[in-house]
Amino acid sequence: MVIFSNLQVDHFERNVLHIQWEVSMDNEDVGEYSYGVYRSESQANGFELVSGLAEDARKFIDGSVNTFKIGRTYFYKIIATRIDNTTLKVESDPGWVGSDPDCIALDIVRRERLLLRQYLKVKCYVLTARTTGARCPNCWNPVRKRISRSNCTVCQGTGFAKGFYTMEPTYFKFNPSPKMLRASGMGPLEKGETNAWTSNFPILKSNDYIIEVGNGNIWRVKSMVTSEKSRYIIRQMVAVKAEEKGSELYDIKLPSVWIEPWECNEITGVPTE
Ligand SMILES: [Zn+2]
Repeated sequence: MVIFSNLQVDHFERNVLHIQWEVSMDNEDVGEYSYGVYRSESQANGFELVSGLAEDARKFIDGSVNTFKIGRTYFYKIIATRIDNTTLKVESDPGWVGSDPDCIALDIVRRERLLLRQYLKVKCYVLTARTTGARCPNCWNPVRKRISRSNCTVCQGTGFAKGFYTMEPTYFKFNPSPKMLRASGMGPLEKGETNAWTSNFPILKSNDYIIEVGNGNIWRVKSMVTSEKSRYIIRQMVAVKAEEKGSELYDIKLPSVWIEPWECNEITGVPTE
């Protein structure tokens, strides 16, 4: 099998990202696979091929990015596909700028995830909004370069044809302690707003949405701040605004089965089934 490790993404110059990784093989030959670098705005899904790779490639320079777009994060994966059976794929873990944690950061993340999942227990889904791709055919005005009507049912107001990436389960704590709020420096709240925090997956940005499983509340992310350890995000604090009643987003169907986020075995030491 192909094993990818140490995927690293660096930003050395404007609108260029450098991706590097390591490969080791286990009982197979590198030539039995084809390789590609894939990119998404979601850590979890929606990865699309950026470029094929030579089998000895350990580096790729992506010049087709806009690194100055505020809030946008590019996530990369290297995927190997068996040439004789293209359904067999091996994927690297996702990498992004600032994605290499030290062991202290990992331990903080592990403890906070345990707290969120075992004790606070507020199940939510995150809808990561697209900021790239084909524009919405229903509401996007290509001449004025902006959304020409509100409450678009095709893109849910994102202005992009596909709207959101596949929703991801996660846990949040709403109404964090005043101490955490002061430390985060988040501004005062308006009517219909609240604060919440979560771990570092998925990474949030303004105009993403959070859907609470228990009560169906939908929140739009207005702003966010992160706590970081050696550039690695360990916690995200968000100011969220309740989505207006009557929004199309309330018609979105949630998955019928809850899948625990964050790989159980890393958190509790209990092996996953
Ligand atoms: Zn639209």
